[in-house]
Amino acid sequence: MLNYDEPLYRPPSEAYSLILQATIGCSWNQCAFCEMYSTKKFRVKEEKILFEEIDSLKMWGDDIKKVFIADGNSFVLSFAKLSRILDKLNDSFPKLNRVSAYALPRDIAAKTDEELKELVEKGLKLLYVGVESGDDELLKAINKNESFDAMSEALQRARRAGIKLSIMILNGLGGKHYSRNHAINSARLMNEVQPEYLSTLVLSYPRGCDHYKSKFKGNFEPHDTIGLINEMGYFIANLELDNTVFRSDHASNYLVLRGNLNRDKDMLLAKIGEVLTDPDNANLRPEWMRGL
Ligand code: SF4
Repeated sequence: MLNYDEPLYRPPSEAYSLILQATIGCSWNQCAFCEMYSTKKFRVKEEKILFEEIDSLKMWGDDIKKVFIADGNSFVLSFAKLSRILDKLNDSFPKLNRVSAYALPRDIAAKTDEELKELVEKGLKLLYVGVESGDDELLKAINKNESFDAMSEALQRARRAGIKLSIMILNGLGGKHYSRNHAINSARLMNEVQPEYLSTLVLSYPRGCDHYKSKFKGNFEPHDTIGLINEMGYFIANLELDNTVFRSDHASNYLVLRGNLNRDKDMLLAKIGEVLTDPDNANLRPEWMRGL
């Protein structure tokens, strides 16, 4: 039987995947805005227990085609450990066609090109990466412990190895003060990486704005709704993507945007322009619909 340590998070696109919890919590757990795993002390699940959980699902073996390895950044596991997990999954589920996980860029950087390629060959095809921003000053302020250059290199290496990337950027992360640089440098990073999937979420305050301000190492002044949408305009205007599926439709977003970039860039910018020129009549999600 699967024995989950709650709360358990997975990307929306993994709704029909088997969620296997190989790690508990996030190995970093220090980003200023994030409370997802604040109740958990990071640990790696004992391999024997994990494999027993996989064995308990063998009767559904033919039905399991996708597996998401949780928690926060399970890609922090060593190459050897991930490799053994993938072997076990392939042996147990003959129709398995995709394994995915959350990763930090530094988890990718810790593996060699050959190791990344071998993981792909064993079925690890997609990584979800909360990049949050490409702006170094803002990354420091939120205590992400990543930088533009390091993320760009790691993410490009993953793509060259054949791993698909789903990247998340946080709209409003730096408030008014960092907004323009956040938008422009995040777009610049995406242009270097060319991810297959890109989504934006709006910064939320699970423990209140004052709590976020107390953890933010800088001057944080929150955006109003129009400020958030203006920042999205700068971000999208600066994107130069060959073929990226773009989604800004998470519950946290005020303005729902969907398209393929750069193909639909003009259409997305036109939608943003409509809101900015006539905010009173804009089709925005009211607060109660944002489900936060
Ligand atoms: S790395 Fe991700 S999961 Fe961990 S604290 Fe930061 S945002 Fe949260």
